[in-house]
Amino acid sequence: MAEEDLYDVLGVKKDASEAEIKRAYRKLAAKYHPDVNHEPGAEKKFKKINEAYETLSDDQKRAQYDQFGTTGSQAGGFGGQGGFGQGGFSQGGFGDFSDIFGDIFGGGRARRDPSAPQQGRDLQYTMTLDFMDAIFGKETTIKYNRSAECHTCHGTGAKPGKSAHTCGTCHGQGYVLHQRQTMMGMMQSQEVCPTCGGKGQVIDPADQCDTCHGAGVTEERHELKVKVPQGIDDGQQMRLQGQGEAGKNGGPYGDLYIVFRVTPSRDFKRDGNTIYVDQDISISQATLGDHVQAKTVHGDVDLKIPAGTQSETKFRLRGKGVPRVNGNGNGDEYVTVHVKTPKTLNKRQREAMLAFAAASGEDVKGVKAGFFDKLKDAFEDNKEDNK
Ligand code: ZN
Repeated sequence: MAEEDLYDVLGVKKDASEAEIKRAYRKLAAKYHPDVNHEPGAEKKFKKINEAYETLSDDQKRAQYDQFGTTGSQAGGFGGQGGFGQGGFSQGGFGDFSDIFGDIFGGGRARRDPSAPQQGRDLQYTMTLDFMDAIFGKETTIKYNRSAECHTCHGTGAKPGKSAHTCGTCHGQGYVLHQRQTMMGMMQSQEVCPTCGGKGQVIDPADQCDTCHGAGVTEERHELKVKVPQGIDDGQQMRLQGQGEAGKNGGPYGDLYIVFRVTPSRDFKRDGNTIYVDQDISISQATLGDHVQAKTVHGDVDLKIPAGTQSETKFRLRGKGVPRVNGNGNGDEYVTVHVKTPKTLNKRQREAMLAFAAASGEDVKGVKAGFFDKLKDAFEDNKEDNK
């Protein structure tokens, strides 16, 4: 059975904003929650809604889904080497699910301590690589915007010597409870505390850090040296730990995912670590055998064409393909030879070919076809007409 499109599950468009997705999710989750909806299939639907939201509410997973139509990690990922982790993503787990759900249904679900350290958001950066740079790797510097811990207050948001105090509205909970009458009876809902915005802590305006105005983070243009490993392929990605956005409450930075786009080459075709090239050879070379210079990504190499080679024969050049990303040798190259039949022949070539045919016991008379032959034909036809 084909997997249902995640956007369809939530009933949103492909370009839906984060807010639209969240809104759609809340609405559907409230409708299909097994506590309130006892229709058959509701629970299954509820599960699907959550799975769709889990992917589409996460920038990284959503990008992955948009790109590959799946939330799995098969598209990226290469062996951990030189500090590069697996390019995969965590599977399953409901992430922010309980928080959002808590907003709707109130108590009974685990709440996150608003003052607990939280890891910052992951970021994604698309890097376009030249064909050869992807094969041999390169060092480069990238620049991107991210939130960073404020240098002045080191993330506290307060002036030196000052600190935050427990929010008087929510008493440090980060949320406030509302009772309201609904068709299903009294419902309790919780909402983010309007005073502290869910932090549970507030800093008096006079005590706020002058640099970040109490936020604890500032936007920065981040510069990062990146060592692109050899053997990168189109669509692969690399995780750079801690290069994402600043965490909350002293939590660690998120990660940066670099997604690689590799531009194609005119000379080479690549499939994983294998390179394919085409090589034209003449009838004489195919028949008599020869040595030719074959193009490889490592430079030209001598390729022996044995006597009697047929057109479209593939020759393998072991180890002349793409270096493996794990450093474990190179892939191979395949050279496909194409025997080119001459389109025009000069007088000597024509005689030689006729002689060759005769020596082979063939009675080939030939058809005049070349440009000069045609001229000659026209001339001779005229002569005949004039007879
Ligand atoms: Zn600050």
